[in-house]
Parts: sequence; structure tokens; C-alpha cells
Amino acid sequence: YKCDWYSKQLITVNPNYTSQICSTCGYHSGKKPLEIREWTCPKCGTHHDRDINAAVNILHRGLKAVG
Ligand SMILES: [Zn+2]
Repeated sequence: YKCDWYSKQLITVNPNYTSQICSTCGYHSGKKPLEIREWTCPKCGTHHDRDINAAVNILHRGLKAVG
């Protein structure tokens, strides 16, 4: 597991809204209560685990930031 690399990415990336944005199509699903652990994107139909989706979005942002 790339712990060192990943934690560095987390520092440089703003994690705001990452749990609300579909990591597949970019749809912004709006604010959700913390108890919502899973959701389905109304645009592309992808079923997301909240934390995994957020991690994917953070990874995408990190890759963009690194350029
Ligand atoms: Zn989607």
C-alpha cells in the first residue's frame, strides 16, 4: 500500500466535497448526512461507498495538482 505517497497527496489536496462528487462522472450530489455510507449517482447510476468515492476523488485531484 502506497502510504507515504498517498499521505503526501492528501496534504496538497483540498478534500472538500470529495464525498459528494461522483468519481465516475463528476456529478455533484450535494451535501449528505454523515450517516450516509453509500449512495447511487443519479446521473450515471454508479453505486458508491462514501469513503472509497472520496478517496478516488482525492486521488484524481492529487494527480491534477501534480500535473
Ligand atoms: Zn456519476
